[in-house]
Order: sequence, then C-alpha cells, then structure tokens
Amino acid sequence: MVLVWVDHDRGRVDELSLQAVTFARVLAAASNEELDALVVGVGGTAAAEVLGEYGVRAVHSATHPQLQGYAPLATARALAEILSADSPSAVVAIGSDRGNEVMAHLAAVTDLPLAADCLEVAAGEPARVKRSRWGGSLYEEAEVRAPTTLLTLAPHSTEAVSAGGSAASIREFTPALSDADLLVQAKAESSEETAGVTLADAKVVVSGGRGVGGAEGFAVLEELAELLNGAVGCSRVVTSAGWRPHTDQVGQTGTKVAPDLYIACGISGATQHLAGCRTSKTMLVINNDPEASILAHADYAVIGDLHTILPAIVAETRKAKSA
Ligand code: FAD
Repeated sequence: MVLVWVDHDRGRVDELSLQAVTFARVLAAASNEELDALVVGVGGTAAAEVLGEYGVRAVHSATHPQLQGYAPLATARALAEILSADSPSAVVAIGSDRGNEVMAHLAAVTDLPLAADCLEVAAGEPARVKRSRWGGSLYEEAEVRAPTTLLTLAPHSTEAVSAGGSAASIREFTPALSDADLLVQAKAESSEETAGVTLADAKVVVSGGRGVGGAEGFAVLEELAELLNGAVGCSRVVTSAGWRPHTDQVGQTGTKVAPDLYIACGISGATQHLAGCRTSKTMLVINNDPEASILAHADYAVIGDLHTILPAIVAETRKAKSA
C-alpha cells in the first residue's frame, strides 16, 4: 500500500494535496498497490468523497479530543501508527511548508530517510528519486534505501487529475498522542484573499517587486488582479520593506505558484524568486531594464515604467471586459 497525507480545511482538500494524491496513485499503480490516505481532524467524511474520486481506496481519519487544527508532530504520530500497522511501501505528502514539516517529523519519529521536493520516483529497492534542489536551480538523482520510502512532491510538478473513482471507505481512529505531541498546533487561521482566490491556487498572479516603489504602488496591481480574477504576489524585498504581508511573497521562502499567467512587475528575477514561479505557464514581464535577468524567463515582455504600463493595461482590460 502507498499512503498519502492529505492537508484539508474541514474536509475541503486543497489543490496541492490533490497533486500529491495523483502522484501517489501513479506510484501505487506502478507496483500494483492500493492507495490509502490519512486526514487529520474534522472533515474526514467530506474529504473521503473527493479522495475516492482521485483514486484513494481508504481514508484513515484521525481525530482526537485535543486536536483542533494543523498539528505537525501529532500528524506524524498518526502516520507512524499506520506505518507500523500496515507497512506501506511509501508515504507521500505535498512539498508545501506543512507537508515538509509533517514528513520531517515522521522521518525523525520513525528514523527513516526523507526525500523532499521529488519530481519523479521509481519504486524498488532502492527507490530512485529525482528531486529539485537549491530552489529549483539543479536536479538531483538519488537512491533511497529504506523499508518505507518517505517523500514529498515538489509543488506544481504534477497536475491533479481525477481518476473518476467513487467515495473512499473511512477508517476512523484515535491516535495515541502525548501532551508533547499536541504542543504545536494551529488554534486559528486567517488568509489574505483577493476576490476569494488564494495566491497558491490563482490562475492569474500579478506580482510586484522593488520597482513598484511602495505600499501605495500596489493599488494598481490589486486593481488588475481583481479584473483578471487573480491574486497579488510580491518579491521578498517587498515583504521585508513591509509593503505587503509575508503571505503574499512568492519564492523559495514564500509561496510556490504555477498560474496560467504570472505578471512580474518591477521584479529583477533572482533565483530565489524564480524558485516560486518558474513553472508558471505564461510569464509577462514588465521592467524598465532591458537587461533584467527575469527577461530570460519571459514569454512576453514590456520594457518601460510599470507606473505607466500597468494603468494602461488596466484601462484596456476594463474596455475589453465591458465590450
Ligand atoms: P530588485 O532585485 O531590486 O529588482 C527590482 C526590479 O525592478 C529591477 O529589475 C528594476 O529594473 C525594476 N524596476 C525598478 N523600477 C521600475 C519601474 N518604475 N518600472 C519597471 N521596472 C522597474 N526573494 C523573493 O522574491 N522570494 C523569496 O522567497 C526569496 N527568498 C530568499 C531566500 C534567501 C535565503 C535569500 C538570500 C534571498 C531570498 N530572496 C527571495 C531575495 C532575492 O534574492 C532578491 O533579493 C529579491 O527577489 C529581489 O526582489 P526584487 O526583484 O523585487 O528587487
């Protein structure tokens, strides 16, 4: 059996976890194994429906009276319980901050090696993995020698594809947790959303860098994002300056996005920024420096002052939408 950890919000499974489920399904099918999933907290039944559609046979639904929100060590303990009962050949999670954190705890708890940010995996003894290193600037091929392969999948390296299955069965259980396992857990959550679209899921991201010039300069980016039903992103210079919250940061130490359209405004193209957006399907760059390194990744570019170009794009978009 292959086991996948699924992040969810009261049963609503996010796009990134569905990518991990799709990846795990292919891995399980390659060695004729079943695919099971672990969900932790309230919402297991709702999650089972969509997970079944994506090819999961059984959902292990872990609840605990003291478990309120995301709890990395408690989740790792629940995974470890399934590991010792069912000996899966692999445990997969998405390589988000949470996925990597949970799996790092699982590796520590079980004393197994973890391959993070994988792009490809070939099951076997040893398992062979190809993974992304140094913010995506190099690929590593490695062998993992362990009875159970622990891995996380590089976000957006696999598309979430439904298997057309029916609802998965549910196995409810209460993991044995100590107070220490519950010490770190989310008590409340809030998210910055643009018109209900999150940065990680948006099909269009309008992203600003130092060239925007200040917090007020983002008004026109917000306007464009709203018109395109997208979200606003930014570079680290911007969050460090306090112009935008950290939740808007795209990059190696921010959110990884892969929208249909990434509009990079006044961003130079540092490798740490590109680590978060280089898999965008189309990139439009607006920059006044014809030598900016981000231009090497652009599908379209406008060389000039973003303060003139963006209002013009907003005006044309409004015109096109009202036509
Ligand atoms: P700059 O590099 O200063 O570029 C500004 C650009 O704006 C230039 O290309 C300039 O030509 C253009 N410009 C200026 N004025 C205008 C105008 N009026 N019109 C049009 N264009 C204009 N960075 C991230 O973004 N995300 C990360 O997750 C991240 N993680 C990091 C992790 C580590 C460990 C380290 C060391 C760095 C990290 N960084 C990250 C920082 C990164 O190295 C760069 O410093 C940062 O991305 C640069 O931001 P920028 O492109 O906005 O600024």
